[in-house]
Amino acid sequence: MRVFAIPMRTRFRGVTRREGMLVRGPAGWGEFSPFPEYGAKECARWLAAAREAAHDGWPAPLRPRIPVNVTVPAVDAETAHRITRASGCRTAKVKVAEPGQSEADDLARVEAVRDALGPGGKVRVDANGAWDPDTAVRMLGLLGELEYAEQPCATLEELGLVRRRVDTPIAADESIRRAEDPLRVRAAEAADVVVLKVQPLGGVRAALRVAEACGLPAVVSSAVETSVGLAAGAALAAALPELPYACGLGTLALLEGDVVSDPLTVTDGAIDVRRPEVDEDALRRYEIDGAAWRRRAAEAQEELGGAPPATNAEAV
Ligand SMILES: [Mg+2]
Repeated sequence: MRVFAIPMRTRFRGVTRREGMLVRGPAGWGEFSPFPEYGAKECARWLAAAREAAHDGWPAPLRPRIPVNVTVPAVDAETAHRITRASGCRTAKVKVAEPGQSEADDLARVEAVRDALGPGGKVRVDANGAWDPDTAVRMLGLLGELEYAEQPCATLEELGLVRRRVDTPIAADESIRRAEDPLRVRAAEAADVVVLKVQPLGGVRAALRVAEACGLPAVVSSAVETSVGLAAGAALAAALPELPYACGLGTLALLEGDVVSDPLTVTDGAIDVRRPEVDEDALRRYEIDGAAWRRRAAEAQEELGGAPPATNAEAV
């Protein structure tokens, strides 16, 4: 077990460095990097994902590369244009509904991104649950054609309300944190697309079962991991029977460094499906004392109770 702390280029979820633990097993390296506020029960699923990576490996890939989106933060239109152009991606996810900003800011940003992508480019927006249903309906009417709107409102009921009133497809992200959540999304007819993340769902196989059970197209996103964690996301995206949307796996640039020598960076708007090897020199640069993380992993392990790694989706 090795523990890392990598500075973030920009603050994310209130953290300025991304910490986690790397475990090695017969199948390779796995990443265990739950966010600081998560308790043992939640952490157990993240640990199951790391154990799967280290001990079982993943199902065979159906595709060698995964198209990814560029994420455009709530910046001014000119910066948004530049970020989009520089990314090389054909799909952009634009953050909207940022507190303190106006609706005109959102409209200008989306327009700039659309212009930067040119014909054939796809734009999706992500409101992180910040709109009320009326605002969502009005803004989606003003924003022009979108690939989808991610979590326009906070609750499933609100998502369902908006979905029935607009033509834009709706994606559920924050509404999905546990294996049973996609089924709730489906039952509430709250979304057209689900955003899946490997660690919170308890591993690649667990996430595949979730995708199958809920029967909606899935977009795979990272939890802002190192290349070790991103490789699991790529494995999930590669194993889904269909992958109609670019994934949110192009997040490595949010970190100042990585623990491998051949990182899963974005080239030509996609990342490779492969498992980079942890590099000793790279890891040593970010290694920290691991006592707190070993305690966290032990508590998560106790929650798992020695059960096979992927039991968390059994409710499905
Ligand atoms: Mg989101």
